[in-house]
Amino acid sequence: MNADIDLFSYLNPEKQDLSALAPKDLSREQAVIELERLAKLISHYDHLYHDKDNPAVPDSEYDALVLRNRRIEQFFPDLIRPDSPSKKVGSRPNSRLPKIAHRAAMLSLDNGFLDQDVEDFLGRVRRFFNLKENQAVICTVEPKIDGLSCSLRYEKGILTQAVTRGDGVIGEDVTPNVRVIDDIPKTLKGDNWPEIIEIRGEVYMAKSDFAALNARQTEENKKLFANPRNAAAGSLRQLDPNITARRSLRFLAHGWGEATSLPADTQYGMMKVIESYGLSVSNLLARADDIGQMLDFYQKIEAERADLDFDIDGVVYKLDQLDWQQRFGFSARAPRFALAHKFPAEKAQTTLLDIEIQVGRTGVLTPVAKLEPVTVGGVVVSSATLHNSDEIERLGVRPGDRVLVQRAGDVIPQIVENLTPDVDRPIWRFPHRCPVCDSVARREEGEVAWRCTGGLICPAQRVERLCHFVSRTAFEIEGLGKSHIESFFADKLIETPADIFRLFQKRQLLIEREGWGELSVDNLISAIDKRRKVPFDRFLFALGIRHVGAVTARDLAKSYQTWDNFKAAIDEAAHLRTILQPSSEESEEKYQKRVDKELISFFHIPNMGGKIIRSLLDFFAETHNSDVVSDLLQEVQIEPLYFELASSPLSGKIIVFTGSLQKITRDEAKRQAENLGAKVASSVSKKTNLVVAGEAAGSKLSKAKELDISIIDEDRWHRIVENDGQDSIKI
Ligand SMILES: [Zn+2]
Repeated sequence: MNADIDLFSYLNPEKQDLSALAPKDLSREQAVIELERLAKLISHYDHLYHDKDNPAVPDSEYDALVLRNRRIEQFFPDLIRPDSPSKKVGSRPNSRLPKIAHRAAMLSLDNGFLDQDVEDFLGRVRRFFNLKENQAVICTVEPKIDGLSCSLRYEKGILTQAVTRGDGVIGEDVTPNVRVIDDIPKTLKGDNWPEIIEIRGEVYMAKSDFAALNARQTEENKKLFANPRNAAAGSLRQLDPNITARRSLRFLAHGWGEATSLPADTQYGMMKVIESYGLSVSNLLARADDIGQMLDFYQKIEAERADLDFDIDGVVYKLDQLDWQQRFGFSARAPRFALAHKFPAEKAQTTLLDIEIQVGRTGVLTPVAKLEPVTVGGVVVSSATLHNSDEIERLGVRPGDRVLVQRAGDVIPQIVENLTPDVDRPIWRFPHRCPVCDSVARREEGEVAWRCTGGLICPAQRVERLCHFVSRTAFEIEGLGKSHIESFFADKLIETPADIFRLFQKRQLLIEREGWGELSVDNLISAIDKRRKVPFDRFLFALGIRHVGAVTARDLAKSYQTWDNFKAAIDEAAHLRTILQPSSEESEEKYQKRVDKELISFFHIPNMGGKIIRSLLDFFAETHNSDVVSDLLQEVQIEPLYFELASSPLSGKIIVFTGSLQKITRDEAKRQAENLGAKVASSVSKKTNLVVAGEAAGSKLSKAKELDISIIDEDRWHRIVENDGQDSIKI
């Protein structure tokens, strides 16, 4: 069977017979059906890929479909459909961003998969230029980065516009977004640039940055990106450039569009000039004299592929001589002078041996597939991510199943298909207890992740919790940073929060540690002793109960004033929860709502809903958590919070801070405002009374101007604080 057909035949089981036939073996009638199917399928994938930043299939499979379509069209040129995928470069851009027409069409490249395709490419060049046998065809070679194509327009050396490829004719205006990408200079270096030049290349995300981004998404319970390309596309195509700025995007130049003059006469020379302008160009870019060197390069890059910090899906060959490029020209869809030599799909079949649960530092339970080791794209793979319980359910995998594993465009291998769903095997059930500490695991409404509730005792989470415990908004222990916690924890000097307050007993041990001395240890011990009295709200917040942030902790402390009052209320609520039983006709959902309603009215604290209450009760219901708290209470004393309503001209006013404050942190500003009896809101609305604008204040400031709200700068705010809220400003 032909290799490129093998890649996708399993995708369409209902039409397997037809799609399994090689293009040359199709009858006319079959070709009509097959071309229609391919046009629809490719257009569907285009839509998902470009507009939703969500690939339904790996690029290699998509490419195989496009190639098959083109091959069939070669055999039946009169059957080419008006909506043929070979007439399109990509799908049209979606509608969120402003549209801009490219001044010079931004085409994609023709693809080849086989060595024969490279030979054919060189053959076409030789015939076109009528070359003698001893005449060399020199090509540049470089890896093909899997990113989002973008054209950067520089006028007189200044970046004036950035446009995505879109459909090759019209793209999206991403000028504000690329301005926040470090790799993209706002001004070209040197002075030998053409009056106008459009530099083209790929915006991409490094694999390491992609992994970090997805880890963050997991923590924040947000949707994961399928691969770096989609993460890059999703990050670049934002209406708000601030979001783009938070993602680590890079740019690699590989060509140019409109240019008023060309400062070099070869592709290689041009790329070196572009590099001298201050743009990144692949450091693997080279020149090849013949097909042997080209294929050597292809194999070398394929072997190194897994170790590169960016995703690539092949290598690109371009005729080096620019006058040859111009003479050889373009087809409707692609330049004739270039070829993308793509890598085959990185997929393999193996057996799923087991599903293990790993517990992350914040308690998220992640299922990991243990596989019979198999080589995928040159790398031995023995485990793959299964993301979460939904994914396991979707795939329907159970230990023992044969599975299809893929590495294409992804850092961590993943299972894409269960090949033996029909074999009778027990369903694998996601555990409801933490495999590390045996605490109950919970999955909250609307969330995909299961989490261990044993935060303070779960070894997997302890370091993170201890860091939270000593952090600035919690116990604020000076001189006890994350690295200290980590090394003290590793040596069993600190295992629970209470151990911190017993560190003095290990004074001698500490002094002997590398990097410590008598003075620094005594300083640390005295910093710890200073916190033996702790305000109620800080104590509660320091426990790291899920959903109980600083604000909720403060609200609870205000409401109950003493720890004993609070603890009594928790016990009473827990009792209430146990006596509320579901009635026989009540659905689980209705019952849960009824319980929430009862508990919310029991606590009666503004902004405290069912989610927070459940989390609080769950926390104290676990004996090991209560133990940690009692242990801690042997060492520290909780100061009740007798909240006095401040009376100042700002009492009851709503203040919004925006931009970056130079002299104090946001936290401190917030506390200052609260001390003056004001409330701090995070967004500007009609109810806002005052906006304090720091440096580089953005949309909130403009909104405040729009709504005619009083605006002051940071210095003015400090004067107000010094004068206990007195100020001439009318708010
Ligand atoms: Zn645990």
